[in-house]
Amino acid sequence: MVQRDRMWSVLERVIQHRAKDKDKSFVPKGAWKKFVRKQDGYKVYEVDGTWVRTNLCVYFGHGGHEKVHEFIPKGEIWISSHHAKSEQEPGLSPCDCKLDSPNQKVSKEWFDSCALHEITECNHMKKGMIFTAAHQKGLQAEKDLGVLLNPHDDTAAGRAKAKEAESMTPYQQGYADRMEKLAMLPVEAKHTLWKALKHLLGMNEQKAQPAAPQLPSVSAGYDKAVAAPVKQAQSVVPPELGSDAMLPWGHKKKTPPVQEQPKIPPKQNTVAALEKGRKKKESAK
Ligand SMILES: [Zn+2]
Ligand SMILES: [Zn+2]
Repeated sequence: MVQRDRMWSVLERVIQHRAKDKDKSFVPKGAWKKFVRKQDGYKVYEVDGTWVRTNLCVYFGHGGHEKVHEFIPKGEIWISSHHAKSEQEPGLSPCDCKLDSPNQKVSKEWFDSCALHEITECNHMKKGMIFTAAHQKGLQAEKDLGVLLNPHDDTAAGRAKAKEAESMTPYQQGYADRMEKLAMLPVEAKHTLWKALKHLLGMNEQKAQPAAPQLPSVSAGYDKAVAAPVKQAQSVVPPELGSDAMLPWGHKKKTPPVQEQPKIPPKQNTVAALEKGRKKKESAK
């Protein structure tokens, strides 16, 4: 994170402190400002961010309220209609969003998410919380709302993903999150995990098989009468119980069907057959 100049926190504190003495009759109006709705006791406006930056404040970003900008009247929330990434000055950089195009209009979801952010932030600052801490509360409120993939993503793909996540059960969501984390792992880590998984599955296979009982070798007679027949019986394991017959996830290994050998009649080259042939030849003469 870029180190913030101390001047910013001084400005924020002074504006926050002076907000209570605002002139109630000063209400800026114009074509650049459109009323959208009332929300939680605030009037939410869509403003032309470019106009605000040019005429009121060069560092006006996505939105603002009475406690962060001295010119925003009490009870008003201003949200910029566009991201306008290309016009941002280096060093001020209010837009660090992931977008489909640099100057796109903010989406409905993004507008709603930002409005909640500003309202949450303003409510906390009214109680005396400093801007940076209140801003974090605003970000958290946006994450909890969940209409965006994250507060800095206003791409169509990101919004679609957020919508999809919304329709999932908590279990499905947890699974999807874990799969996403797995997918982001470096290749070496994936290999290590795969090895560990194979090892675990191998252990399970061993567990599934009955362990051979330890037979006490009392005497040669015992071995011959008891141990040997038992050992022989154990060696005849049906194929479906073999060590690699069961694959992970319960799939049974396919064993090729046993081909029945065609029955070949035994050659009649016995003495009797030869004798019969000889007799046949003789009768034909
Ligand atoms: Zn932005
Ligand atoms: Zn904020």
